[in-house]
Amino acid sequence: MLTFTVEKTDSAARQGTLVLPHGTVHTPCFMPVGTQGSVKTLTPAEVVETGAEIIVCNTYHLYLRPGHKRIQAAGGLSKFTGWNRPILTDSGGFQVYSLAALTRVTDEGAEFQSHVDGSRHLFTPELVVEIQEALSSDIAMCLDECPPYPVSRPAAETAAARTSLWAERCSRVREPETNLFGIVQGATYADLRESSAKSLVSLDLPGYAIGGLCLGEASDVTYDMVGRVAPLLPIDRPRYLMGAGYPEDIVAAVRLGVDMFDCVLPTRNGRTGTAFVSSGRVVIRNSRYADDLGALDPTCDCYTCRNFTRAYLRHLFVVGEALGPRLLTLHNVRFYQRLMQGIRAAIEQGVLESWSRDFLDRCRSSSDPTGEANDR
Ligand SMILES: [Zn+2]
Repeated sequence: MLTFTVEKTDSAARQGTLVLPHGTVHTPCFMPVGTQGSVKTLTPAEVVETGAEIIVCNTYHLYLRPGHKRIQAAGGLSKFTGWNRPILTDSGGFQVYSLAALTRVTDEGAEFQSHVDGSRHLFTPELVVEIQEALSSDIAMCLDECPPYPVSRPAAETAAARTSLWAERCSRVREPETNLFGIVQGATYADLRESSAKSLVSLDLPGYAIGGLCLGEASDVTYDMVGRVAPLLPIDRPRYLMGAGYPEDIVAAVRLGVDMFDCVLPTRNGRTGTAFVSSGRVVIRNSRYADDLGALDPTCDCYTCRNFTRAYLRHLFVVGEALGPRLLTLHNVRFYQRLMQGIRAAIEQGVLESWSRDFLDRCRSSSDPTGEANDR
């Protein structure tokens, strides 16, 4: 089971400790994404070295390959992957809608065709809990309906109602020791968000997530929705904003009372050559770095920044060496952990507001254009 303790607050922001079956997580936390059971390009030892205490794996992908029964027979996901620490598995709802073909959603569940081999499957709330229990996830997510943005009001209403219905069914079948989180839906409609939050809270779940945001809506809309939902969630349960990955969004959401984050941004951008640094973003292939013998981020303590120059990292990307994506991923994952450490320390000292201002000013000081504005 899960124990969550809020140790310090600074306005709505919370600094706390989340004790899970495979270990302790300090919050607010960022969870690197290991979709297929691996944080792409990194070994578990390297992920540990970045300071990450929990990762996110994906139910949809692991159910299709290698199969949850196989992972269960291998001793659960932590053992199978060599990551002997906490794992949160998402329910697969998001992938069913975004990756699979021929999705048909009814109150019974989500029927989809595998993006791997075209085989047909039905994710019911009960099956999704069963899969995550077979994986021995530290935190399991309810099946939710997350329609792609933008969402019409009727579609958002149906999805939010169905998400509540499914959460109730998930809650009914879960083993008592399963740390099941409900997911608040309602797209960008304030009243739907509020009613979704209230109906999930009535299930008295160990934690709550806010889903269906950071999908392309304007940041002020995201913050408005988070700001309305967070105060409706129980103060003694962890709150998780799904898919928020830009440092500025994380900082804003922490200030609204969110404890947990995940996103593919640090890993995916690392593989494609964009680094998050204390002064903003670096697109390492840029020719301006060809003779730059400075560190990727002079303020960073990661292996990449301690040992390599921007010129060398650019060279690795230009010639297509596998080490380039690895080194940038390592740096980015560490950057996010340092960000969270900074946030936690600022909450502890009661200075989050001024810390956030300084951080955002620094971030905006020199960024390469990345064209990633629509790539959330
Ligand atoms: Zn670094």
